Amino acid sequence: MNVADSELVASILNKNDFTIVDNIDDAEIIIFNTCSVRQHAEDRVLGRISNEISRKNSNTQLKIGVIGCMAQRLGNKLQKQNEKIDFVVGTDQYKKLPEIIMYLFENPGFRSDTIINNKEIYEDIFPIHTGKLNAFITIMRGCNNFCSYCIVPYVRGRERSRDVEDIINDVHKTGKQGFKDVTLLGQNVNSYNYQGIDFAELLRRVNKVETIKRIRFVTSHPKDLSDEVIEVMANSEKICEHLHLAMQSGDDEILRSMNRGYKADHFNNIVQKLRRAVPDIAITSDVIAGFPGETQAQFKRTYDLMKKIEFDYAFTFKYSPREGTKAAKFNDHIPEETRLDRLQQLINLQQDITLKKYKDQIGKVKEIYVEKLSKRSNEELAGKSRDFKITVFKGDKSLIGTFVNVRITDAVGWTLKGKEV
Ligand code: SAH
Ligand code: SF4
Repeated sequence: MNVADSELVASILNKNDFTIVDNIDDAEIIIFNTCSVRQHAEDRVLGRISNEISRKNSNTQLKIGVIGCMAQRLGNKLQKQNEKIDFVVGTDQYKKLPEIIMYLFENPGFRSDTIINNKEIYEDIFPIHTGKLNAFITIMRGCNNFCSYCIVPYVRGRERSRDVEDIINDVHKTGKQGFKDVTLLGQNVNSYNYQGIDFAELLRRVNKVETIKRIRFVTSHPKDLSDEVIEVMANSEKICEHLHLAMQSGDDEILRSMNRGYKADHFNNIVQKLRRAVPDIAITSDVIAGFPGETQAQFKRTYDLMKKIEFDYAFTFKYSPREGTKAAKFNDHIPEETRLDRLQQLINLQQDITLKKYKDQIGKVKEIYVEKLSKRSNEELAGKSRDFKITVFKGDKSLIGTFVNVRITDAVGWTLKGKEV
């Protein structure tokens, strides 16, 4: 989502005669796009900002700005933390960036704009895609779910969907530019609705766009993933066999306290349904360890459900209290040590499962969208399978941007190795 927003901002600035430089030393303006989902993300960016701000000693004209969720969350407070920051602009005010920046060059000082505009959807802006072959296409902004741990609804405002025609045009144009793999983005894509057109229908329409070959989407919410969407996934040749579906916890009481709107059984049932409907589908997930009040027995339920389901991959997080959210006010927070210990157990478990899942691929022939030379060798290429597994094989760099069938011969960590067939 943040990559997509950075591309949107790049496009807004580009239209106003700003250009992106390749080397940060040449920049007259540095903009940090930030994340607030966990404290760790905020701490890291504060460190980065302090590092870059020292450039102002030698380049007195340099302007430094902060945008994104952290800018939205902290507003003017950010400037108090680091008084050399020139501007802070929230998630709904990016169209004002050119004017704010120009103003600052003429009137040095500090400017901020963090007004939430629940209608802003940036419909008329075609982002500059910075990826090489995969493009992100935002289909909706904001979130109405208010999961009790999550800051997103507070910093991105209410849910709103983009015009279906704009989305289809973007997908078409993106494909013509050479991006054959598109990812539709939203905090909860399953509740996409534009004038009665729901997500299943949007998928059907995107599947008909001729210029692209692969479709992915994130993020799906288990409470809203309908049978119809599963059916469309099963019947649309361009929709990849991969779904990211955040489980968060395997315990009903914790799920209730998280305000997730489903029980562990429901989650497990959807996974089974998906596996029946879409053979060989890869399912990845997000899981939180050490949510307030989580007992050892409740944690064990999460552990056991992860073990039973066997995700292809899972992002595991230690619960991080976010000021202003409901869970931050709960009075039964888990000690940091316990949170870390539980997180480590989930990481170890998932590592074994991922390796096993990847080893299961040996012998299969997979279609790889070749993205680049591999990091290790100039004779090897790296790309992704439809089920989102990085695959490395020997081949000439002229194959970059094409689709190649590869027989898998080995799995090392989270990478598959193979031979072109
Ligand atoms: N809209 C997406 C998730 C966006 S945030 C969805 O609902 O699936 C990405 C992930 O960060 C979440 O799925 C959750 O696992 C994690 N996360 C969010 N807030 C968190 C917090 N306060 N502490 C730890 N992890 C958190
Ligand atoms: Fe956060 Fe829940 Fe919305 Fe995802 S669905 S962004 S976790 S509030």
